Amino acid sequence: MAQLQEGDIVDVIAIPSKVSDVVQVPSKKDPSSPLVKRTISLIDDSRFSIDLTLFGEMAEGWSQDGNPVMVFKNIKVTDFNGRSLTATRQSRWEVEPNISRTQQLHNYTATQNMDDIQLLTRTQGSMSGHAAYKSLRDARNEVSGQPGKSILFSCQATILMIKHDENASMYYLACPQQGCNKKVTPDNQTNSWYCSKCAKNYPNFLARYVLFVRISDDTLSDVATMFNDAATDLLGKQANEIKVMRENNDPELEYLFDCAIQKKFNFKIKANEETYQDESKVKFTIQTIEPINYYEESKIILEKIQNLLAV
Ligand SMILES: [Zn+2]
Repeated sequence: MAQLQEGDIVDVIAIPSKVSDVVQVPSKKDPSSPLVKRTISLIDDSRFSIDLTLFGEMAEGWSQDGNPVMVFKNIKVTDFNGRSLTATRQSRWEVEPNISRTQQLHNYTATQNMDDIQLLTRTQGSMSGHAAYKSLRDARNEVSGQPGKSILFSCQATILMIKHDENASMYYLACPQQGCNKKVTPDNQTNSWYCSKCAKNYPNFLARYVLFVRISDDTLSDVATMFNDAATDLLGKQANEIKVMRENNDPELEYLFDCAIQKKFNFKIKANEETYQDESKVKFTIQTIEPINYYEESKIILEKIQNLLAV
């Protein structure tokens, strides 16, 4: 992979290691009709990883689960974010091609630690790209009845309630190893905490948020999940601090929750349908939360009005 030259049209045999959600990006040719794209991170036994971008129907039609070996034909090499691959109209792919190389790659990934892969494409974080603005109802309708589909959207909504009664588990006890985040279990014999991912005992844990909140815009009110980063931004405190306050019945805790609710925020939210015990439900997961900058907002609205008047 590292020898690829910009502009080359190549066939690539590799394994998708990570698949992004479909995101909308502005089109250079026509800013009024955004493009839809999806990024697939590919790995092979060269210990390099490279991103392949699919556009339009290819992006939306991607339905591959897991980590099969795949052949991608007629793929263009670009220098976007370092080095990456882009599917063209002529691109095709095949899953688990019946060649010896397929087994070779499977054997490789089964026996190797894939953590120290070198990235050829610079990652921009999963929240990169423009997430189209949607109402909660539109987002729900878009994924409803479509298991496996998930969308990322921007939304302005109010937090009505943060679940924090005495039975609410607002956090879990996570592995203290940076980047691991796996739930740890108490090991009473050694008075420590066991992480099954690291296969190791630790003397301590790190509390990480799983917060359930009720959000509402003018179309819908529903429960949403907030994980550690977003919840820390909302409450301005680490989950460990909240845990200590809670255990000490600190009266300031209630004040913290009061301050965070009945306020409008800019959210980026993931919506997908999940089935639990034969019942399907659309689930909202808050990815980022930001205070609304009313000065910036008014500039955008003013611009829209001016555009309308110009027509
Ligand atoms: Zn761990």
